[in-house]
Amino acid sequence: MQIMKNPAEISILILYTGGTIGMTHNPLTGALESFDLEHLCANVPEMNHFGFNIETTTLNPPIDSSDMEPEHWGKMAKIIEEGYEKYDGFVILHGTDTMAYTASALSFMLENLQKPVIITGSQIPIGQLRTDGKENFLTSIEIAAAKDKNGNPLVPEVCIYFESKLMRGNRTTKINSEGFNAFRSFNFPALANAGIDIKYESHLIRKPKTDEPLRVFTEMDTRVAVISLFPGIREEVLSQIVNIPNLRGVILKTYGSGNAPRKEWLVSTLANLCANGIVVVNISQCSKGSVEMRRYETGLQLLNVGVLNGYDCTIEAMITKMMYLLGKYKDIETVKRLMCEDIAGEMTALS
Ligand code: ASP
Repeated sequence: MQIMKNPAEISILILYTGGTIGMTHNPLTGALESFDLEHLCANVPEMNHFGFNIETTTLNPPIDSSDMEPEHWGKMAKIIEEGYEKYDGFVILHGTDTMAYTASALSFMLENLQKPVIITGSQIPIGQLRTDGKENFLTSIEIAAAKDKNGNPLVPEVCIYFESKLMRGNRTTKINSEGFNAFRSFNFPALANAGIDIKYESHLIRKPKTDEPLRVFTEMDTRVAVISLFPGIREEVLSQIVNIPNLRGVILKTYGSGNAPRKEWLVSTLANLCANGIVVVNISQCSKGSVEMRRYETGLQLLNVGVLNGYDCTIEAMITKMMYLLGKYKDIETVKRLMCEDIAGEMTALS
């Protein structure tokens, strides 16, 4: 159950990174461009009705999230680290295009997180009629401030709130470029649904596993590649990618439950990669369901040469997890082991 402390005792930090929610039309080109936080807040005077102490900060300069880079994730993580003691919760305003990548990355980079980090944005800028931004923004603030009866945050994890659903950040994918329901979490249920009340599914929300202080890890290793299979894929496509100097990890997007064509060159190239200490992980092109390489011969051939199981992970979670683990651990066996274990709620690893 949600219990409110005295609102005046609750402090929330809003971090504006850019995205449609704060954009306005450039009168010359007609295209949407990032605008400033003052403009955005001026359009949502309702945020002061909560009675919380709400402070704001900006990623400088605000960006269209298509320009998002791991350095930006590092900046966001550092801002949260700096404000961690002072604020009860954090709301990040972000473009929708790469929001699921940022949410996934932060879920790994903010180690031992015990406070809410709620990421949201909108499909229509906040200054425009029919904007979806106001509801997304205001409800995100309410969720970031929500406490249980012991005064602990109700949602101590990185989430995306969008169109009345609160989803675990590293389970989300952008699925819609025009509707208001821009995000889905195919392999994990929503953590809360906002109607007249916000209904929290407490049994699904991650409980902090430790009392250790927040630790921020920002050294992401981007020497990774994604290969998505398709009928007719040619050997030279794969060989170009695997010959990239210093490549450390590959995500293979396979068919169905983790299957690939039975081509000798494909299997032997993957075998070589695995034998040379490159981390190769199998996730499915299907949005829903899990990789199960033992189900078909076409999957088993991958397992037999050392391809790892990414289970039901999204591509956003898998790529950011790979960058994080490769950056954090020198020992490749540790990276391989953790790639197949759930470390931040991102996968349902079956035994
Ligand atoms: N291109 C925009 C962005 O991701 C789209 C949006 O915000 O919805 O920044």
